Amino acid sequence: MHVPVPRLYKTQAIVLSRFDLGEADRVLTLLTPHDGKLRVIAKGVRRPTSRIGGSLEPFAELHLVIARGRTFDVVTQASVGEAWLCFRDRLESAATAWYLGELADRAVEERAAAYPVYALLRRAFQLLDDGMAPGRLARWYEFNLADALGMRPEVERCVECDGTLEPNDAFRWVPALGGVLCSRHPGPPAEQVGLSLDALKLLRAYRRLDIEAIAALRLAATVESEVESALRRFIRHVLEREARSLAFLDEVRDHGTRRMTARS
Ligand SMILES: [Zn+2]
Repeated sequence: MHVPVPRLYKTQAIVLSRFDLGEADRVLTLLTPHDGKLRVIAKGVRRPTSRIGGSLEPFAELHLVIARGRTFDVVTQASVGEAWLCFRDRLESAATAWYLGELADRAVEERAAAYPVYALLRRAFQLLDDGMAPGRLARWYEFNLADALGMRPEVERCVECDGTLEPNDAFRWVPALGGVLCSRHPGPPAEQVGLSLDALKLLRAYRRLDIEAIAALRLAATVESEVESALRRFIRHVLEREARSLAFLDEVRDHGTRRMTARS
């Protein structure tokens, strides 16, 4: 008689989301460097006596040993590699981390290798933990996530005629076409959103510069907000839906802005 033997494997992983199952179990959605997204079960982890329960938190890089199961694979050992503890206390950074994790969740298929996305999310969490401004970090992440999925925004030349974008032209931002459209083409009627030259320059900075250099730029709030809306629309187009965590992130941020205004 053939007796199936559980096969163990080791992986690093970041917890993207989780929900409770039964009395003490938890189902985790993990992002891993080499196996893409995994949905696994962690048994008994909601009991105070669980040896691994305390390790299986979001926003940490974990080292896991997992046993292949019939429906779900099962976590058998867990330890924390990178904890990234600092940003959890800052509400906007924590809300941004949920947003970045949700985008990764939508971007990666189960059991499909996704090393670039894993590396991007890992670096983003590290930078958030180091105190990087969450807004610029989120834009950098959106740009590079689209790139990692083979849909890098075109910000150097016109998406339609491949012509050089002249500084005095009236550009439009058309995510459905992949980037910037020059004024020579009518464009889809629903996508007639203009793009200022300063916003185009900032989009190019996201294409050309590393995040450390972008974080050091002095930028007008209007330009940042224009690029925020442009890149959010772009990533929504790439992933084919709006992130659920965005409403919470905006609420947290607007609340913070109001408090600062009230104080000054
Ligand atoms: Zn053109």
